[in-house]
Amino acid sequence: MIETDIVIIGGGSGGFGAAIRAARADPNARILLLDSMAQLGGTSTVGGVNVWQAGISGPGVHYELYARLAPNAIGIGKIVHLYSKEEPYGFSRIDPNSSYESTLRTAGLAKLDVRRVHFEPDAMAAAMHAMLREAGVEIRYRTRFTDVSVQGRRLVSITVEPLDGGAPYTVRSKLFIDCSGGCHLARAAECSMAFGEEPHDLYGEPSAPDSASPIVNGISQVFRVKPAAEAGVDELPAAACAPEIQDWLATHTPAAHITEYPNGDLCVNVLPTMEGAEFHSMPYPEAQAIAQARMHAHWRRMQTDYGFDRYRFKSMFPLVGIRESHRLVGRYVLREQDVRAGLLCQPQRQEIIALADHALDTHGERTVRGGKLKHLEQPYGIPYNCLLPAEYDNLIAGSRGASFSHIAASSCRLSRTMMALGEAAGEASALALRDGTNYADVDVDAIRERIGIPAFEEKALSVWGIQA
Ligand SMILES: Cc1cc2nc3c(=O)[nH]c(=O)nc-3n(C[C@H](O)[C@H](O)[C@H](O)COP(=O)(O)OP(=O)(O)OC[C@H]3O[C@@H](n4cnc5c(N)ncnc54)[C@H](O)[C@@H]3O)c2cc1C
Repeated sequence: MIETDIVIIGGGSGGFGAAIRAARADPNARILLLDSMAQLGGTSTVGGVNVWQAGISGPGVHYELYARLAPNAIGIGKIVHLYSKEEPYGFSRIDPNSSYESTLRTAGLAKLDVRRVHFEPDAMAAAMHAMLREAGVEIRYRTRFTDVSVQGRRLVSITVEPLDGGAPYTVRSKLFIDCSGGCHLARAAECSMAFGEEPHDLYGEPSAPDSASPIVNGISQVFRVKPAAEAGVDELPAAACAPEIQDWLATHTPAAHITEYPNGDLCVNVLPTMEGAEFHSMPYPEAQAIAQARMHAHWRRMQTDYGFDRYRFKSMFPLVGIRESHRLVGRYVLREQDVRAGLLCQPQRQEIIALADHALDTHGERTVRGGKLKHLEQPYGIPYNCLLPAEYDNLIAGSRGASFSHIAASSCRLSRTMMALGEAAGEASALALRDGTNYADVDVDAIRERIGIPAFEEKALSVWGIQA
């Protein structure tokens, strides 16, 4: 058994943000971060989602990561090909003339004016590792959380399993931060959770369907291709030739999002590779195998029909890109009305700890009302209470499974926003540890001040030309 002050489950964007903030805020705190993967970054590195989509998030640590990776392992992407029915892919190449600041906005911009950040996943994971080690965080890779022990309103300990051998052991901690993507710790502790679309009557969301459904945002199996000297195609693996895979290809035209790596390779993110509900209805290895076979089949089509015959397949990313799964139903649930109201008009404005402005974007299957859920006109914020479960005093969530409705999650799930959520969870943890208080009693103004949210909000409003 080991004892610590703060344990963080998951080292993706949210977990990294939580760890770096908590460690810098309290250098004496014992902080342990666990991840079942072999590197940090989660979906954004092991899952291959090497793009920080355009958008506002917060004044935080993303600036520092950018500075560490520039100029060779990171670049600013500009759209060079827009999706069309005939050529169903978007293509973003690195543009040396665009600034990092230009990537911090998406609402209200024309598509061709949007800028995003493309990075080398391994370099990002290495930078995150170096920063956490410099800050004194203990990291245990290939270590999976499996169980939790609770007493009344407090989590007491978790059981973890080293995946490369060795016996499971117990980690006792004062505070617990759940950054596992699908909120696995909160689920294991039997917190109230949601999965799929909420019915309209639950939160009164204008676009919500009449009844609940298990539909969640689609998944993507991301892969990497490299330039080739001559035109040609890759050999199809046997799995991709199977009739059911070829049938899928014949009946589907998924959209590919292609982004250039700094070295000229391309990242291919086809959405959806599989509908979210279908993916979650089967065991992970089985669903992953189907997704990978579909990707090989679809890549062949891109080579033969869309002109990518001067590229060859290089690698498939080991983690399937899961956009959405279980979500916490916390002290406050962010909903469509908050997203559409915007920063100045949404309730709980004084408690905002992260910002977002990405379109409401439920890829793939959906039953939401009306047409496509459109781009937003202005940014909105995520209140602190979206991180807090109602059931426990020493548990906080800091990743895509925090307390958002299905519709709201489709907007706020971007990597830099998840990092900002994690940062708030990390600052809250340092304050709770210092004062010996529960998460719900932490002064939200203090979290906001430490992160720099009030000044950043002012900047955001002036960039958007919004009068207070
Ligand atoms: C295909 C796809 C495309 C996307 N495109 C973009 C984009 O272009 N731009 C953008 O900004 N965002 C994009 N997103 C959204 C964004 O990438 C994710 O929402 C974000 O990375 C999630 O970060 P997170 O920290 O919440 O979770 P994750 O990054 O998933 O991190 C969760 C971590 O928890 C670990 N974990 C889980 N369970 C356990 C356990 N039991 N024990 C130990 N560790 C565990 C996992 O290994 C993982 O490292 C995309 C997402 C997907 C899937």
